[in-house]
Amino acid sequence: MFAWPQRGTLEATPMTTPILSQRQRAALAAICGTLVPSVARQDDPHGFFAASHEGTDLVPRVERLIGLLEDPLDRLRLQLLLSALGTRVGNLLTSGRFQSLQAMDLAAREAVLRGWAESGIQLRRAGFQALKRLVHVGYYAWPTDGRSHPAWRHVGYPGPLPPPETGFTPLPTLPVARDTTLDCDVVVVGSGAGGGVVAGLLAEAGKSVVVLEKGENPTAERFTQVEGDMLNTFYLDAGLMMTQSGSLPILAGSALGGGTVINYTTSFPLPEPTRVEWARRSGLGLFTSAAFEESFRRVSERVGVTTEYSDPAPRDQLLEKGCRALGWHVDVIPRNVRKCKQGLECGYCGYGCRHGAKGSTAATYLADAARAGARLVVRCEADRVLTQAGRATGVVGRVRRADGTTVSLTVRARAVVVACGSIYTPALLARSGLSNRNIGRGLRLHPATAIAGIFPERVEPWTGSIQTRYSDQFADQHEGYGVKFETAPMHFALPASAFGWEGAARYKEDLAKLGNLSIVGVLLRDRDAGRVATSRAGRPRVHYELSSFDIEHLRQGLRGAARLLAAAGATEVFSVQQPPARGTPGGTGWLERFGDAMDARGYGRCRNAFITFHQMASCAMGADPATSVVGETGESHDVKGLYVADASTFPASSGVNPMITIMAIADHVAGAMLQS
Ligand SMILES: Cc1cc2nc3c(=O)[nH]c(=O)nc-3n(C[C@H](O)[C@H](O)[C@H](O)COP(=O)(O)OP(=O)(O)OC[C@H]3O[C@@H](n4cnc5c(N)ncnc54)[C@H](O)[C@@H]3O)c2cc1C
Repeated sequence: MFAWPQRGTLEATPMTTPILSQRQRAALAAICGTLVPSVARQDDPHGFFAASHEGTDLVPRVERLIGLLEDPLDRLRLQLLLSALGTRVGNLLTSGRFQSLQAMDLAAREAVLRGWAESGIQLRRAGFQALKRLVHVGYYAWPTDGRSHPAWRHVGYPGPLPPPETGFTPLPTLPVARDTTLDCDVVVVGSGAGGGVVAGLLAEAGKSVVVLEKGENPTAERFTQVEGDMLNTFYLDAGLMMTQSGSLPILAGSALGGGTVINYTTSFPLPEPTRVEWARRSGLGLFTSAAFEESFRRVSERVGVTTEYSDPAPRDQLLEKGCRALGWHVDVIPRNVRKCKQGLECGYCGYGCRHGAKGSTAATYLADAARAGARLVVRCEADRVLTQAGRATGVVGRVRRADGTTVSLTVRARAVVVACGSIYTPALLARSGLSNRNIGRGLRLHPATAIAGIFPERVEPWTGSIQTRYSDQFADQHEGYGVKFETAPMHFALPASAFGWEGAARYKEDLAKLGNLSIVGVLLRDRDAGRVATSRAGRPRVHYELSSFDIEHLRQGLRGAARLLAAAGATEVFSVQQPPARGTPGGTGWLERFGDAMDARGYGRCRNAFITFHQMASCAMGADPATSVVGETGESHDVKGLYVADASTFPASSGVNPMITIMAIADHVAGAMLQS
């Protein structure tokens, strides 16, 4: 029996049963050697170009990462791909060469991988992207010598910082060591932006509340700032989840506090025109009501939304400079932080705040809940909502113990709130036997991509307040749909995952410029939807592709981002396409040529790197049960006493970073529950 590596101890846990066969492992080693080879370069003081995967534990690490893929189908796909590449016949069929990958020299292997990366066949592009992401993140997101890494030293990236002298007090949790049954008024499943708020408000109102959270309890010591370990510990499915076609990695938090523990603290209210659109789509007056506005006010106050701590990092200074030079819209981002030091360490906030300055639900509403006597259970995955005669009566789940074994937990309750986020909420409802056909439909992902710019001066994109400036210059291209510009901190995992690859030497050259690099992130408000399907085993599977309507907005946004970077002083720009389009600002027609190069590569289905930080709208709130999953109070149309209170209730995409809107909806749902 394979002993699953535990979150955050990827290297420490022995693998008792290998994930890959010997041949598959040999093919993986050949891929590692192709993506991370030693490259000759004269000016290489830290040995970054000379370094390769040899002498590191990259191959076993990638094997463990493959083992951590939650969906057996994802593992199987990679195993089959490695089997094909690892045999002569398989490689002949897939790459046209009667030689296994491991028998080829480096140039031939590069040619095979480039062929896959730019193939006309979607499956090959997806296979390449999945392996490239695992290998590059596996190599660059962990230190090679326990503390540092030649690539980190080359660009001056400090890696994990020394821990602060004072941390913060973690929340008290209820240990569950054996099969257990609990009774309460309300059981809340999922403790993020939605679940945390509902739990806090109901507990403070005197209800007995149990919170079930499948992630870990964040403690200051757990925030080690080693990127790979942080993804593995505090991100949903270890940060490895992808859409079914492989074109969009899905990033979400998984911890006591959910996404609010690791998110970037950007705290926008829902814009007025979007509220009107949502009211029209849903048939609900809620979204334009004064009561909803009051919910926004309350949650913003509780989590400490302010512009007091929005000093721009160098990345944001460049965004502002470019916008001002062009006469474009730019403004300050409000953030949910208190006493935030805004220094070097703030750039690490996407892996948790060790100072307790972030107004996550863990630091606010869940702390209120705990004070009011709520019981918080971590490492507990809810399997099913229990129902009787059309009414929710509780939840049954499993608690993971330290040794990897599980015990069962049954919670009997008068009401159940599901707030597992937009990917896992539909799966839990489907597993619980709800048959509403809208469950999982309507999913929006705010696909995010970027243009990178290289500047003559140091930018150090890993440092400074996490996000403080934005531009809505391209936000309303058609009926409120378009893109928002924001920056994001860049350590190594994001570029390792997103930068296009046209050969190992060029890839290293791109990474070597990280210290002087900034990005303009392009966050698409998507009009058209995907869906979350649920496999027979009850696992969510995400189907999502960009529509031509949404791609057109993205095209304009990417051109705008390149122009902005040029106006801010970038001397080179490149896209995160496969292979990257490259431009040198200056001279007539450079932007058109760059735009044409991007168009030639294309944007859909593994041709351009995207990532989703914002999953929404997969169990929409609406007046009509034929087109929605829950009604205005958040209660299911199908099962009494079963509520949903997370981003899945959005009637469409929000266009702004969604946390505060989720919290406002949760505040409203809690109020409605108390009234009923
Ligand atoms: C890196 C990153 C940066 C972001 N930055 C921002 C930002 O700056 N501003 C902003 O507005 N938004 C941001 N977001 C998005 C924001 O954090 C999310 O939209 C928000 O947290 C979603 O809230 P939710 O309640 O829907 O789900 P979540 O907050 O994701 O919470 C769901 C919780 O449910 C748990 N869970 C799932 N299934 C089960 C189960 N079966 N049993 C028990 N528990 C379960 C999960 O582990 C998770 O902790 C960011 C997201 C990421 C990943």
